[in-house]
Amino acid sequence: MRILIADDDPISRKLLERTLLRLGHEVEVVSDGPDAVNALLRADAPRMAILDWEMPGADGLVVCRVVRQRTAPYIYLILLTGRDRREDVIAGLESGADDFLTKPFDVLELQARIRSGDRVLQLQEGLLEAQEALRVQATSDDLTGLSNRRVILEQLDRELGRARHERKPLAVAMADIDHFKRINDLHGHPGGDAVLRHVARCFQIEVRAYDGVGRYGGEEFLFVLPGCEGDEAAVAMERVRSRVAMNPPQWDGKPLPVTLSVGIAWTGPGECDSATLTHTADEALYRAKAAGRDRIDIERRRAGSNTADRRPAISIAPAAA
Ligand code: GH3
Ligand code: MG
Ligand code: MG
Ligand code: MG
Repeated sequence: MRILIADDDPISRKLLERTLLRLGHEVEVVSDGPDAVNALLRADAPRMAILDWEMPGADGLVVCRVVRQRTAPYIYLILLTGRDRREDVIAGLESGADDFLTKPFDVLELQARIRSGDRVLQLQEGLLEAQEALRVQATSDDLTGLSNRRVILEQLDRELGRARHERKPLAVAMADIDHFKRINDLHGHPGGDAVLRHVARCFQIEVRAYDGVGRYGGEEFLFVLPGCEGDEAAVAMERVRSRVAMNPPQWDGKPLPVTLSVGIAWTGPGECDSATLTHTADEALYRAKAAGRDRIDIERRRAGSNTADRRPAISIAPAAA
């Protein structure tokens, strides 16, 4: 394990360094409080530190307090001190130290305390991993890795709030795989699942960093496109549509053609809620399906506004279709 030693006394520092090296640890050494803080706040900081209590610049307690202001990653802090009065122990623990070691230290005790710290760190790491796994499970769709329905709808609500605040438009797009039932019928569910994963990868390649995309239902996906009016959203979604159409996934050694129909709806700042917007996109999707699939339909009227745009709804279809 990599351990930071902070001690202003050269002899005691050297002794500790030699001992830790002999016990098989990697050591980083500093001789005052500010250097200890810098080393422990680095992204690649050692996960354990043995800190002298009295040091110039900032004592061990101050170092503990500063390091504890940041919660992750957890650093196990051992205070090295000649003090063993009750008040000192309490002050040390309250400043965030995990353990104490009295000077002069006993090697076996040092070894035991490091081991106990290591157990705490391992437990902590296991907990963090489990927490992260749960977070991923709760927010993403298992099959495609995209946001799940709840998360993409939350993102839509957040972006609608931001659009209102920043006085910007916002578009959503509902994309649905064409004749997906046929794909399942012809190639079985594993074939269908492979297609879902493939289109999800295409989406991830095409969306901008600040766009969102999530699996809304079985073979339906919701895109959230902040800052876009209908036409800009259509350009973005045409890239998505054509990437899917031009890059069929391989299944059983052969390309498996897949197409998407897309319905787009958009709104000005603060003009409509997420339910109206997704419903309007659904209606546009329905029109794209009815018009022959593999195309995009944009609702020309701002969702939620009663003033109809005089331009007719348009369909973008691939040149070859
Ligand atoms: P359309 O072009 O009108 O959209 O026709 P479609 O066949 O794509 O639409 P429909 O809604 O009739 O069928 C959707 C199918 O998607 C039905 C369902 O069994 C399938 N499906 C839903 N979720 C999954 C999944 O996770 N994996 C697979 N393989 N199929 C799924
Ligand atoms: Mg000292
Ligand atoms: Mg479909
Ligand atoms: Mg569908």
